[in-house]
Amino acid sequence: MRGGGIRARKALGQNFLTDRSVLSRIAALVSAGTGERVLEIGPGKGALTSYLAEQAGRLVAVELDDRLVPLLRGSFADNPRVTIIEGDILDLDIRETLARYGTPPWKVAANLPYNISTPVLFRLLDVRDLFTRLVLMLQKEVGDRLAAGPGGKEYGVLSVLFQLHFDVTRELLVRPGSFHPVPKVDSVVLSFVPLAQPRVDVGDEDYFRRVVKASFAMRRKTLWNCLKGGALGVPTDGIRDALARCGIDEGRRGETLSLQEFALLTKGLLAAGG
Ligand code: SAM
Repeated sequence: MRGGGIRARKALGQNFLTDRSVLSRIAALVSAGTGERVLEIGPGKGALTSYLAEQAGRLVAVELDDRLVPLLRGSFADNPRVTIIEGDILDLDIRETLARYGTPPWKVAANLPYNISTPVLFRLLDVRDLFTRLVLMLQKEVGDRLAAGPGGKEYGVLSVLFQLHFDVTRELLVRPGSFHPVPKVDSVVLSFVPLAQPRVDVGDEDYFRRVVKASFAMRRKTLWNCLKGGALGVPTDGIRDALARCGIDEGRRGETLSLQEFALLTKGLLAAGG
C-alpha cells in the first residue's frame, strides 16, 4: 500500500484498515463476481480497493481527500475497470453517477468515515433499489443500533427504517488494533440485503418515518407523551383513539414497538387525519 507519508485526517474519519485478514473477509462478504459492479465509499489509501479490484467487473470509488485521489489513481492506473472519483459522497447524486459507469445492480463496500456514517446510511437507503448487497464497516454502537430488535436501548429509528427494507446481518467484530491510526471504539462489519418488498406494508412511508421519529424523540417518555405534541397532524383525541384501536397501550415506550406495530399505528393515525 502506498501513501505511508500522508498523515490521517481526523476530520475525515480516517482510520485506515491494515489487517489483511479483515480486508479479505470484507472482500469475501462483498463477493463481487466477474462482471459485477461495486461502489466503494472512501477508498482511503486503497487497502480494500485492491481486494475489490481483483474481483469486480467495474469498481467506482469515491474519495473526498484530494491528497489521496492522485495516489489512488496512480495505484490503479493499469486497471481500466477501476474509476476513482474525487468528491463528497453526501453531495454526489449516487444514482446519476453510477449510471455513467454501468447499469444496476451494484454492490456497495465501505469502511465508512464514522463521523458521517448516519447521513451516508440514509442516502444509501434512498437509492436501495440500485443494490443487491451492501457490506459496511461501522462504529460498533451504530452497527448495534441497525441490527437491534425491539425492547433494548439500541433499538431506534435506524433499526426500524433499515429493517423495513433490508435483511441486516452482523458479520464481524473488528478491534481497534486492525486500523491505523487506532480508533477509540470497536467496529463491526454488517451486510445489508435489500428486500424485494418492504417487510411490512406501512401505507405512506414518509408518514411512517414521521411516526417512528416522533415515537423515539424522547426515549424516557411514554408513546403518548411523544406523539401528543402535534408533529403528526392528528388531534390528541385522534391519537388516543388510534392507539386504542391498534391495541397499543399508550403507556408503552416507542422502543417496545415492533415494525408491525409501527406500521399499524401509522395506518391508524392516517385514518385519524394524519
Ligand atoms: N477504505 C479505507 C480503509 O479501509 O483503509 C479508508 C477508510 S477511512 C475510515 C474513511 C475514508 O473515507 C477516508 O479515506 C476519508 O478520506 C473518506 N471520506 C471521508 N469523508 C468522505 C466523504 N464525505 N465522501 C467520500 N469519502 C470520504
